[in-house]
Formats: sequence, C-alpha cells, structure tokens
Amino acid sequence: MCVVTGLEQHSADVVVVGAGYAGLAAASRLTAAGLGVVVLEAADRVGGRAVSEVLPSGVRVDHGAQWIGPSQKRFHELAAQYECGTFPAWETGRHVEVWHDGTRSDYSGTLPKSGPGIVEYGRVTALLDELALTVDLDQPWLTPSFEVLDAMSAEEFFHSQTDDEDALRRLAHAVQGVWCCEPREISFFHVLFYVASAGGYGQLVSGSAQDSRFADGADALALAMAASLTVRLGEPVLTIRHTADGVEVITGKAVVRARRAIVTVPPAALGRIGFEPALPAARRGWTGHTPMGRVAKVHAVYEEPFWRKKDRSGIAALHGRNPVGAVFDNSPQDASRGVLVAFVHGDSVDRWAAAPDDVRRADVLAALAEVAGARARMPIDYAEMAWSEDGWTIGGYACFVYPGGWTQYGEHGWRAPTGALHWAGTETASVWNGYVDGAITSGDRAADEVLSASRS
Ligand SMILES: Cc1cc2nc3c(=O)[nH]c(=O)nc-3n(C[C@H](O)[C@H](O)[C@H](O)COP(=O)(O)OP(=O)(O)OC[C@H]3O[C@@H](n4cnc5c(N)ncnc54)[C@H](O)[C@@H]3O)c2cc1C
Repeated sequence: MCVVTGLEQHSADVVVVGAGYAGLAAASRLTAAGLGVVVLEAADRVGGRAVSEVLPSGVRVDHGAQWIGPSQKRFHELAAQYECGTFPAWETGRHVEVWHDGTRSDYSGTLPKSGPGIVEYGRVTALLDELALTVDLDQPWLTPSFEVLDAMSAEEFFHSQTDDEDALRRLAHAVQGVWCCEPREISFFHVLFYVASAGGYGQLVSGSAQDSRFADGADALALAMAASLTVRLGEPVLTIRHTADGVEVITGKAVVRARRAIVTVPPAALGRIGFEPALPAARRGWTGHTPMGRVAKVHAVYEEPFWRKKDRSGIAALHGRNPVGAVFDNSPQDASRGVLVAFVHGDSVDRWAAAPDDVRRADVLAALAEVAGARARMPIDYAEMAWSEDGWTIGGYACFVYPGGWTQYGEHGWRAPTGALHWAGTETASVWNGYVDGAITSGDRAADEVLSASRS
C-alpha cells in the first residue's frame, strides 16, 4: 500500500463510510462483535437522510424521514433497545383531493373510494401486487420475465394497461409520491421490486409505511447509536484505495487503514469518491443508472392545528397545477402547535426549487390554504428543504433505477462486494428498500458479510 504523508494515520479493523442508519447499524454490529470500527461522515452530523431541526417557533420538524410502519421490524427492535419512542401519525378527519381541473372532494380512509379514474387505478395497482409476488428480492435477476419487465418504464406499462386518462393521472401521482420521479424515468421492474420489498402496494400508499412518527425526531435513534461508536464528523471520504486484502480510506484530514470497508453512501454520491483501482464496470454502470429521486419538504407552523376543529385531517392529494403534490398534518404529539408539511416531487421540484423565494413560498401556502383554509396562508414559522441540493445525499427518498439498469448491471453491480469493499445503504436492501428500516437491515447484512469474511 502507498503511504500518504501529512495526514493523521489511523488503523481499524473496518472503516464505515457514512453515518446514516446503514452505517450506524453496520458499525454497531461489528463493534458488538469485538471489531475496531471507525465511521467517517462527510456532514457535521449523523443521521444522513434522517435529520431533525428545532425551528425558531420551538417546533421540531423532520426534514427527511419522518414515518415508521409496524412491519419495519429492525427499526422497532433498535428503537426499543435505545428507548426511542414513536407516536401515531394524525389521520383523523376528512382528507381532501384536489383534481387537476380544480375540483375538490373530501374522502376518508386511505384512498378515495370514488372519483375520476379510481376504478381503473385500483385494477392496475392490483396488477402491480400480483406481479410483485413473483419478484425474487435477494436475487432480483432470477425473477420470471425479469428482462421484459425491466426493459419498460412504468409509463409504458401503465399505457399498455389502460387508456383512462384519469387513472393514468392517479398512477403518475403515485409514482411521484412514492419514488419522487416520473413514470417515464423508472424501470417497471424497479417499481415491482420496491412494491415487493415493502410487502405490497398498499403498504406504500395506504398508510402502513406512514403509521407512526418519531417522538424525538427521526435522527434521535441515530444519535443514540452513534454515542457508543467512533464517528469522525465533517470528514468527507475523498479516495478509497483497495485491494483484496485491505483498504486505505483517505479524507482531507486522515488516512484510515483497515482490512475492510463498508460504503453506505447513496449510489449517486459515490461519484464524489475516487476509487483506486477504479470500481468494476458493473458497479460503475449501476451507479450511473440509479439517480436519486427529487423531493422537497416544506413545513409551515401555526399557533394550533386549527383545521382539526373543522374535522379536517390536514391530509391531501393534489393533482392540480400547484407544484405541491401531497400535504400531511405534522403537528407535535401534544398538538401544542399546528404543523402542515407539503411535499413537492419529481419534475415539479426542478421548477419549484428554481423559482424565487417569494414564488416558492406563495405556491406552498396556496396549496396549504386549499387543504386547511385561508388561515394556512399565515404561518408563524416556515422551513423548506430541497433534497436535490443536499451535497452529500443529492436527493431522496432514495435512488430509482432507469429502465434496463437492473438487467445490465444489477447482478454484479447492485451490492456484490468488490474485494475488501462491501456495499450497504437503503438502496441495497431487500426488505423496505428506500426506507430507514431497509437502511438498518442493509447495514446488518454488510456487517455479516465482513464477519463471515473475517472467519474464513
Ligand atoms: C424527504 C425524505 C423523506 C423520507 N421519508 C421517509 C419516511 O418517512 N420513512 C422512512 O423510513 N424513510 C424515509 N426516507 C428515506 C430514508 O431517509 C432513507 O432510506 C434512509 O435514511 C437512508 O439511510 P442510509 O444510511 O442508507 O443513507 P443516508 O442516510 O443517505 O446516509 C449516507 C451518509 O453518507 C454520508 N456521505 C455521503 N458521501 C460521503 C463521503 N464522500 N464521505 C463520507 N460520508 C459521506 C452522507 O452525509 C450520509 O450521512 C425519506 C427520505 C427523504 C429524503
């Protein structure tokens, strides 16, 4: 190995790159097994795509991950171990749907039971569930008709199934809301993989994944896990030199030598790290075909959740011209303030984020007024987070896969280790891919790979 001078020199059994939930889960498991682990994190905080902030009004908001579901078992195990609580998300009252022509309708339950295109939408999404049952989650390339399913975009599949424009609008809205991209961009196989990974389409859209919220913020568990680990913050990894026998992981301040490294950064963020030698073609091809979704979250804070008094839930699906696609009640558990969160997804983010401050704010407040009434135009606090502008994660909620990406690069590029390099991060999870729970299980899996390699 080459010696790098002028930098602190450290050694460890394993270096973990990234202190999001994947990195922290991997580091915790390896530390518990008795290995010496150093975690290198580019940002000045742990948690990655789970980040909380207390706004000037005193309300804590989650700019990234915010919900947790009952079947996300590893999260719940760790939350119990570290005594991090959750509370039920607010869903009481009437929800609103604003259709593309401006028509408003109220509904209750998880999805509208009537409305334009709803029957056809239900039929096509039932097909997604049927096809998702065939997906092999651990070796996706073994799924029947894998190449055919992966060659088409979600848009091509939807158009092959229905010419009902309203159903197609609903399907596009669902893709934007779940994958933060447009149906033309995403491999239809990836849609099926993700549906299977969550345990069904209903799990993704009907509230199961949005069942509860983090009592002390989405990064509370990350902070608790990091407290007993060696985590070096503010140290972006610049270069990783690797052979079959070891790694040198280089930041602006230090070189850490180790037997193995677990890299947990999102695929799109790998481009900011130099690998010597270059990564194999399949891994490079995979990262080139797996862009991050595009999403922004905006919180508006009020003295109280005034909409609840009018039997409004604060939940809305917006199909109109306003860039906001969905709204939820994100008030604190004790309802000491009212908080609405607006989501902007996919192409709308590009347009919305490029607009001047006052235009962005006016768009969001107009959407919130549709949902909760005119009083929503006068928040006491307001905070935006456009994830595409986050230099270290580059988007969210997670990456998606372009049509053909799984076929061309999946088998060798998705998560197969590269010598002493192991790959984790929610994008490598078989279960709850794209979610915090998937991040944790991906860290567990990568740690197990390292442990089993150390034994052999
Ligand atoms: C807006 C939004 C809403 C979401 N909502 C939910 C939700 O409600 N429920 C849910 O379960 N999930 C949700 N998610 C997804 C969830 O946040 C992620 O799946 C999960 O946090 C990913 O964890 P990770 O450890 O895999 O990756 P990350 O959290 O991205 O961690 C990777 C870490 O690597 C660091 N890094 C990057 N480059 C380098 C480098 N060169 N050197 C060192 N460190 C580096 C990054 O700073 C980051 O800390 C949401 C995400 C977003 C963006």
